[in-house]
Amino acid sequence: MTTLSLVIWFTLVGIVLTLYLTFFTWYLWPALMRKSHCAWCWQSLHLIRWYPRGWSSTICGRHERQLRAQSAARRARRLDAATRPPAEVQA
Ligand SMILES: [Zn+2]
Repeated sequence: MTTLSLVIWFTLVGIVLTLYLTFFTWYLWPALMRKSHCAWCWQSLHLIRWYPRGWSSTICGRHERQLRAQSAARRARRLDAATRPPAEVQA
């Protein structure tokens, strides 16, 4: 191995690694922003006091599923209460 081939090899490895990290970050960036800006995550970590005021809050997938399940249960309870016949009054 000559010095020139080592220089070429390290240059190619550097270029490939840079491209890999660029595309990996580009691919993961929306998920990272969604997760890092989730106000419910900050709340569950007891860090909501330090949530930056300038950020518009988003919701991560886990908390979105949790809130959807809660609202579906609330809706089912409300529907059940509305369709149940009124209780008879004992005289
Ligand atoms: Zn979250």
